[in-house]
Amino acid sequence: MDSTTVVSDPTRRRRRAPSALLVVLAMATGACGGQPDGGPGAAAEVAVRGSGGVNAEVHQGAPHLVLISFDGFRHDYMDRYAAPNFQRVAAAGVRADRLIPVFPTKTFPTHYSVATGMYAENHGIVGNTFWDPARGAEYELSDRDVVEDGTWYRGEPIWVTAERQGMVSAAYFFVGTEADVMGVRPTHWRPYDGRVSRNARVDQALAWLADDPASRPHVITLYFSDVDDAGHTYGPDSPETGAAVAEVDAALGRLLDGIEALPHGDQVYVVLTSDHGMMPAPGARAEGLDLDVLPGVRMITSGPYASLFVDEGGASRAPALRDSIAAMLPHGAVYLRADVPERFHYSADPRIGDLVVIMEPEWTVVRQDRLPVRDSYTHGWDNRTLGMGGIFLAMGPGIAGGQRIEAFESIHIYPLMAHVLGLTPNPEADGSLQVLLPVLAGR
Ligand code: AMP
Ligand code: ZN
Ligand code: ZN
Repeated sequence: MDSTTVVSDPTRRRRRAPSALLVVLAMATGACGGQPDGGPGAAAEVAVRGSGGVNAEVHQGAPHLVLISFDGFRHDYMDRYAAPNFQRVAAAGVRADRLIPVFPTKTFPTHYSVATGMYAENHGIVGNTFWDPARGAEYELSDRDVVEDGTWYRGEPIWVTAERQGMVSAAYFFVGTEADVMGVRPTHWRPYDGRVSRNARVDQALAWLADDPASRPHVITLYFSDVDDAGHTYGPDSPETGAAVAEVDAALGRLLDGIEALPHGDQVYVVLTSDHGMMPAPGARAEGLDLDVLPGVRMITSGPYASLFVDEGGASRAPALRDSIAAMLPHGAVYLRADVPERFHYSADPRIGDLVVIMEPEWTVVRQDRLPVRDSYTHGWDNRTLGMGGIFLAMGPGIAGGQRIEAFESIHIYPLMAHVLGLTPNPEADGSLQVLLPVLAGR
């Protein structure tokens, strides 16, 4: 889908069997059952260290919040393409000029930052693919084993904040919801399966919102990849991407109509986000890295940015290697990890690599032997690049309609969500409530 290359780890484990312990414990607590359709792999497990599927009494009057991610929905699509239901949310609530994702602008790090309020260097999901030198293992988005293994994840996603405080949560997909982060999953969750129809996801969210107050989830996540899929294949300026916007807009309309029809519909927040934008990656703007003349250097990711590891004992060689690599990449900036400029917040975690390459927008780095590459469309560049910007819109009982706010960083969404739900946020989150608190004024 994008130009990421992966150094595969031959020791990678394959999908493990469902955790019998979880299922048995869930049955023993009576919290199992009531799971819906959902097609292949839809069997859901019930968190046993969370709410146990029952809202603590203190939360039963709290509002509900549906957090939706539209993958690859660039900030300007709403105005370029017909999106009447996105406009409906803007009119009823608040719309940001643009959402500034975290770096790197790839699906896994950016989603998990929305969920946790942390930069990637702090939450640990530093790419869609990355190498962990301490574990000697690779994280890769299509490897179900690692994606579902909570020990890879740091921070406290909003659904874990909720569950740990006795509030029921549910996910029909969102990065991180399949993993037992801090030993906790949402009460209801699904292994990611892109084949599940948009309407099935929406209808399940509506069914959850119609549950009895005792078990009705207060945090619900939804995720749609359609716009990203079209953007990678046809580009941001194509009728196909416009059609994908119309499709997710229709799904959003179905959700909004369903919420309006609920007796407690006015107690539901709807938060719309996206993880990054989309830009052209012309084949003529790909620069090659000749790893044959860089002994002991491994490139873990490539494309708009790259992580490079220098083999054992190579730390002293890193500065010289940086200079050699910089000479091969006229349109890239090459940094020792500690020297990555502060504003990227991409230094603290050894998973980032010994050396980091960040290419200029539209330029990519690939292994020399992969050249030439075809024209394509992707994301992953500097998070401040306009074309990497996403969306943020929100409506709900505490938000006055018709508000327009400036661009802001996605780490500030977590504290707002915790606040409106009456939850105590993780004090280690990087985001600050002060940034979005003004949207709650005037109601
Ligand atoms: P990207 O190119 O970085 O935008 O990645 C987008 C792709 O990530 C989507 O097309 C999905 O296939 C994949 N994806 C999204 N969420 C998940 C998930 N929870 N588990 C595995 N893959 C996912
Ligand atoms: Zn994405
Ligand atoms: Zn993508």
